[in-house]
Amino acid sequence: MKIKSVGVVGAGAMGSGIAQALAVSGINVVIIDVSDVALEKAKATIDHSLQRLVSKGKLADSAREVALARIVPSTEYTSLTSADMVVEAATENVDLKKRIIAQIETAARADAIIATNTSSISITALAAGLAQPSRFIGMHFFNPVPVMPLVEIIRGLQTSDETASAVHELTERIDKSPIGVRNSPGFVVNRILVPMINEAFFVLQEGLASAEDIDTGMKLGANHPIGPLALADLVGLDVCLSVMDVYLRDFGDPKYRACTLLRQLVEAGRLGRKSGRGVYDYPA
Ligand code: NAD
Repeated sequence: MKIKSVGVVGAGAMGSGIAQALAVSGINVVIIDVSDVALEKAKATIDHSLQRLVSKGKLADSAREVALARIVPSTEYTSLTSADMVVEAATENVDLKKRIIAQIETAARADAIIATNTSSISITALAAGLAQPSRFIGMHFFNPVPVMPLVEIIRGLQTSDETASAVHELTERIDKSPIGVRNSPGFVVNRILVPMINEAFFVLQEGLASAEDIDTGMKLGANHPIGPLALADLVGLDVCLSVMDVYLRDFGDPKYRACTLLRQLVEAGRLGRKSGRGVYDYPA
């Protein structure tokens, strides 16, 4: 099956980026949100992002207009009837996602693929309520979508080969690099990345080096573009902590226990850039 039109449900940071990446590659997109304000913001964000590509000489102005025209905003799930595939990118909440995915299955064609961009919820669990779990799959994009080349393609227990290969093909067609992953907490990238960040907090807590030196060490010694503590501030310390807590709960392995320093910074409201202070200070 060749995917030519895609519905995107959820017009936030990720949904708008996914819609842009699809439209630039010639795919017709219907983007759905419960909020008109979110839809207007998404259109403006995509327009701004495409303008920047034009000013950098990476996109022709005519291509910008064509891409924008391919994206149709809607608040009605009934607009999904012609989509070959629907990507769910709404708020990260299990009950909400189960409800949305059921609504998508009702509204979309019987042969449409349904994908979710969830970062933390089990693909197999989300598929369980569907009449046809074989056409459900995880498609985990990275933020910001127009810039980040990776897509983790996650097969749930019941995902079919046909579904997985159609989504791999689409991912390559929109100029992204797919990696195939079996369903498991954190998939591949966050499973490795977040415990590394947690380890950096242990190193800081034990007084082995200053925060600046830990970050410099990993930048210059491991060739990372950003140090783990600065990355924690970017991601949000609360997000890192809750991911570690999920790994500890789901794997039951003490190697995933969150560092006390990380937990205390979160308790103190030092969440990183978004709160103005995390490991480092971010004056307004
Ligand atoms: P966001 O809060 O920016 O956007 C979520 C959008 O979903 C909002 O516009 C909201 O109005 C909409 N929504 C809520 N209920 C809805 C419904 N019933 N129908 C349609 N739309 C609805 O969130 P985000 O950062 O874009 O994250 C979206 C998903 O992507 C989450 O599952 C998240 O885990 C995942 N994700 C996020 C990142 C990231 O770095 N932000 C990276 C990878 C994956």
